[in-house]
Amino acid sequence: MSLNQSATQIASDVASRLRSAVDVCAAALSRAEAVNPRLNAFTQILRHEALCRARQIDAAIARGEAPGPLAGVPIALKDNICTRIGHTTCASRMLESYRSPYDATVVQRLERAGAVIVAKTNLDEFAMGSSTENSAFGVVRNPWSPDRVAGGSSGGSAVAVATRTVPLALGSDTGGSIRLPASFSGVIGLKPTYGRVSRYGLVAYGSSLDQIGPFATYAADAALLLSVIAGRDPNDATSADRAESDFSAAARDVDPAHAIRKLRIGIPREFFADGLDPVVRDQVEKAICEYRAAGAHLVEIALPHTKYCVATYYLIATAEASSNLARFDGVHYGHRTPAPRDIHHLYSASRDEGLGTEVKRRIMLGTFALSAGYADAFYQQALRVRRLIRDDYSQAFGQVDVIMGPVAPSTAFRIGEKADDPLQMYLADVYTTSANLAGLPAISIPCGFSASGLPVGLQVIAPAFEEARLLSAARFLEQRGDWHSRIPPIE
Ligand code: GLN
Repeated sequence: MSLNQSATQIASDVASRLRSAVDVCAAALSRAEAVNPRLNAFTQILRHEALCRARQIDAAIARGEAPGPLAGVPIALKDNICTRIGHTTCASRMLESYRSPYDATVVQRLERAGAVIVAKTNLDEFAMGSSTENSAFGVVRNPWSPDRVAGGSSGGSAVAVATRTVPLALGSDTGGSIRLPASFSGVIGLKPTYGRVSRYGLVAYGSSLDQIGPFATYAADAALLLSVIAGRDPNDATSADRAESDFSAAARDVDPAHAIRKLRIGIPREFFADGLDPVVRDQVEKAICEYRAAGAHLVEIALPHTKYCVATYYLIATAEASSNLARFDGVHYGHRTPAPRDIHHLYSASRDEGLGTEVKRRIMLGTFALSAGYADAFYQQALRVRRLIRDDYSQAFGQVDVIMGPVAPSTAFRIGEKADDPLQMYLADVYTTSANLAGLPAISIPCGFSASGLPVGLQVIAPAFEEARLLSAARFLEQRGDWHSRIPPIE
């Protein structure tokens, strides 16, 4: 089988019995087992469970049952998405042995669509980080250059797709955690509109920011996966009550000139200011020129509150995290210290032993930002700035259809380079956090490589619920270059 085979092709081959789901699954499992010792992308490879599921799918097809749009397609899930199979660890000692008693809504929808979950992927502990260096199970390495990070926090999902272990994976994005690793690893990563995809069964980090979204090699596959997981869910009150869309049309083989002609593309000057690595700037500008050459109009726009995004994000995300993570105390959930002296020690030692340094830092920051006497100066103030950031976008989308810029200020950095300097690390999120603060859909599309062979991603942001624009932008670039089809040398 070609490593570049799409999910769409696999599903059609399996449905028509050209290939069995078991064969496809076995190939994905062997690839995962070959990749993992070098890159550490998976917290668990679910060999037994996956093969059982694949056998059931083959049997259902043999009985003549309709197999679903992802028939036999192997998929990897970030390990903060609850699955009854395997563990749901959040890459934390706290949840190392946790087994979820229920499946997340996205998992139920995947199973209904015929997908086969082959692995859970490594992440920054509780999705807090930009490099996957904060995992209790060790760093994920970049397949293009193993001494570099793969980006975070969904580093494992990005690498699962970049290495062609699976054609599809799911991650979660609170402030960039799908787009950043997609950009560093050279794959598509899409953060949907807030509310587009149910968060039920996603272990909460920043509940007003979190969204689950797809990683894929091809735009059409990302569209297919989004169509499967999107839609209202009674178990998530923030999930949007919109007619389920079929996103596949947007990513179909369109005439590029037609899809892009007359598209008004906003170029925020704040996204190209100081601090942007010239290598990234070059590739991003070249990609934007492709759209212009196809007839798109470029419009310079201003997002004047961009300079406050990182500070605003880190106040709101940590405030929400401090509340969400209170349940991991050894009593409600998670690791319990083996020999507590008294009830206070039970709580403090369980949390101390179970949680990593960055998670503790976030809980302390968030607790401070919410505490009496400070909440108005920090948390409430951050909410006000969040409104201004959202207003910047509303104004911009009065003039343009999409906004384009870089995903990250640099290509993948070296392992350890920013690990001791949290502020430097937080700045990696300078272009990604605003889409979460404003609730908007945004994508990272592979758009080139640095001279040293590191991938660069183009970020496209659209108005709420206009994911279709992102997917057709991705499809367009896919037709213009071969960046998406290059495979990192992992042997
Ligand atoms: N890097 C950001 C953080 O550490 C974003 C993480 C995410 O999107 N989950 O909070």
